[in-house]
Amino acid sequence: MNSIKLLEKLVSFDTVSSKSNLELVSWVTELLGKHGIEYRLTTNDEGTKQNIFASVGPRVSGGVILSGHTDVVPVVGQEWKSDPFTLTERDGRLYGRGTCDMKGFIASALAALIKASAQPLSKPLYLALSYDEEIGCLGVPRLIDDIADIIPRPRAVIIGEPTEMQPITQHKGSFRSKICLTGKAGHSSQPSLGVSAIHYAGKVLQGLSEYADELKASPYKDSALNPNYTVINTGLISGGTAPNVFAQNCEMTLATRFMPTETVGTHKLKFERIVSDVEKRMQNHAPECSAQVVIENNIPAFKPEENSEAVKICELLVGPRPSGAVGFGTEAGHFQEAGFSTVVFGPGSINQAHQANEFIEIEQMNAIDECLAKLIDLQM
Ligand SMILES: [Zn+2]
Repeated sequence: MNSIKLLEKLVSFDTVSSKSNLELVSWVTELLGKHGIEYRLTTNDEGTKQNIFASVGPRVSGGVILSGHTDVVPVVGQEWKSDPFTLTERDGRLYGRGTCDMKGFIASALAALIKASAQPLSKPLYLALSYDEEIGCLGVPRLIDDIADIIPRPRAVIIGEPTEMQPITQHKGSFRSKICLTGKAGHSSQPSLGVSAIHYAGKVLQGLSEYADELKASPYKDSALNPNYTVINTGLISGGTAPNVFAQNCEMTLATRFMPTETVGTHKLKFERIVSDVEKRMQNHAPECSAQVVIENNIPAFKPEENSEAVKICELLVGPRPSGAVGFGTEAGHFQEAGFSTVVFGPGSINQAHQANEFIEIEQMNAIDECLAKLIDLQM
């Protein structure tokens, strides 16, 4: 099966992150099995989603891991000209949810692995397929934990997110956090008896916005990232029951995109300082009040590597190209933290990702097929 046929099949599985990916997994593993390709599976706690890690070639170091996520973003509220889960060709483009982000790459990688399984490789080729990337890279840590001590040192990891085959060597990290305030409910006519969690959430927001301004005021001058400073966004807030009741609870959810040289820990500490100051003030009125910070997920930043093996491989595939930085997060930081040289390099453009009428150019599919054919030659 060629990569476009494989893509057609992959797109037909509705693997929106809120749903199970097991049908896709069972189809892929059956295909791998037919070609005698070994694979390992790791499963989420609920048993509804799986990662696949497949390998061909000898058990030696110097392997290359091709990595992609199987989940896609929802289509609700988007106006599609054709069924998002039916691959549709129009004017040299292949339309469908996930075509560019990132089932196009997975299809090509799967085709390459099958082709490689019939070749006398001297170094291995691997395929890593994860779940729940789109909702915070939740699946891939389990896959990495499972393989890290088992496979002989790989040479590089290629994350096939859409970069139009430009090697990407850095992006920001991000984490989602919740700030939960518990006040004391009471009738709004008796301010001495109640503590409004919403009122104090305002003071937390004030502290956070001052911190965000500080970060903006000291950008990283030599960074290729845009913007070149850490951004904090309070995207969700909820609390209270009625205008005439002091709010018992208020909860805020924040997304923080931090620079590669920073860590979640530094920002968490700052958040905790802001929040604990507010907590003290609430407790002066009623000792049962509380305010806390909870870090809900963490996508590690992806840092530029010196003399990157992964970038060298891209150069062998497409010739020298300037490496770049992207604004979106990927699983690259997770692989890099595990000690693997990593690059983000894949077909299609991020401009089409997550959009209605998402597509990948057939020309981009051909280009990645050609790259991966060269990669097989490199592993011979
Ligand atoms: Zn993606």
